[in-house]
Amino acid sequence: MRKRIFHLRMLVLFVASLFLAACGGKGAVTSEATSEAAAAPASTPQPQQTAPPADKTGGFDGQRAFQHVSDLVAIGPRTAGTEGNHRAQDYIIGQLKAFGCPVDPEAFHTPTPLGDMEMRNVLVKIPGTSPDILLFLTHYDTKRLPNFVGADDSGSSTGVMLELARLLCARKNALTIWLAFLDGEEAFNLEWKDPDNTYGSRELAARMALSGDLSRTKAVLLVDMIGSRDLRIKRDTNSTSWLTDLVWSTASRLGYGDIFVSNATAVEDDHIPFVRRSVASVDIIDLDTPARLGYWHTPQDTLDKLSPRSLAVVGHVLIAVVPQLEQKFARPGAAKLP
Ligand SMILES: [Zn+2]
Repeated sequence: MRKRIFHLRMLVLFVASLFLAACGGKGAVTSEATSEAAAAPASTPQPQQTAPPADKTGGFDGQRAFQHVSDLVAIGPRTAGTEGNHRAQDYIIGQLKAFGCPVDPEAFHTPTPLGDMEMRNVLVKIPGTSPDILLFLTHYDTKRLPNFVGADDSGSSTGVMLELARLLCARKNALTIWLAFLDGEEAFNLEWKDPDNTYGSRELAARMALSGDLSRTKAVLLVDMIGSRDLRIKRDTNSTSWLTDLVWSTASRLGYGDIFVSNATAVEDDHIPFVRRSVASVDIIDLDTPARLGYWHTPQDTLDKLSPRSLAVVGHVLIAVVPQLEQKFARPGAAKLP
């Protein structure tokens, strides 16, 4: 994903970001990210943070989520079209089946800068009392870079989504809930330039539009890069306001106002194909911290940069948002659920 800067006051920073891009970075970064990246060393050793017990985070087990990330990182690079990517698919499908989730791998072909490629989105479609859909998204592919294992990008959100699937597949849901593990979010080229990105989400949005499922989709919640030890998630101005408000107010109520902060930024990511089709969407992403700590899209995006507690916090917020959306979109006569 990349960040888009459009404020005039950012002009100087835009020039700085061009400099960064020329040095091999992708996209642009904000003022603080730029200045702090120059000042801060790549990493400072910190004591291991542990996840709170699952009963303190809505049943969401941050330690389980972290184990998934560890297992995915152990596979190695997981770039679309590679053996590592296929092994990641197998891992995700195996875990989902073990949770009793209905799994639906959806393969598709797409042109890429490397030629025609087969990719695969892995979908979980959990029937609910209402046919209206709540859609969770993550990508599971990793950026095509040497020795890039993507602990935060995309291991962290994939781990959270697997743990979320475990809970939601066992729950009696008022809304139909879909979870999509998307392929091909990352650009094959170093730079993020349309249409060389978001292959999986564009495919899913197009398929759902054709099938009519998209018109029943009430909310799309995307998570991406949410595992950092110093997690600090800004509001994304490309996301839908009311849905962003709902997520951020939930986080604040749960005591995570220091992580879900009120600053805003603009991010291009897997939610954009849904935003363009006028579906309410929110991107929950911390792009700044990995850039500031210097590990974003580098071989230093490793497990030691992550905290199980960060995964637990985001998982807690997601699981707490579900009943609120169910209440908001409950159809008259539908059975009330806790
Ligand atoms: Zn990335």
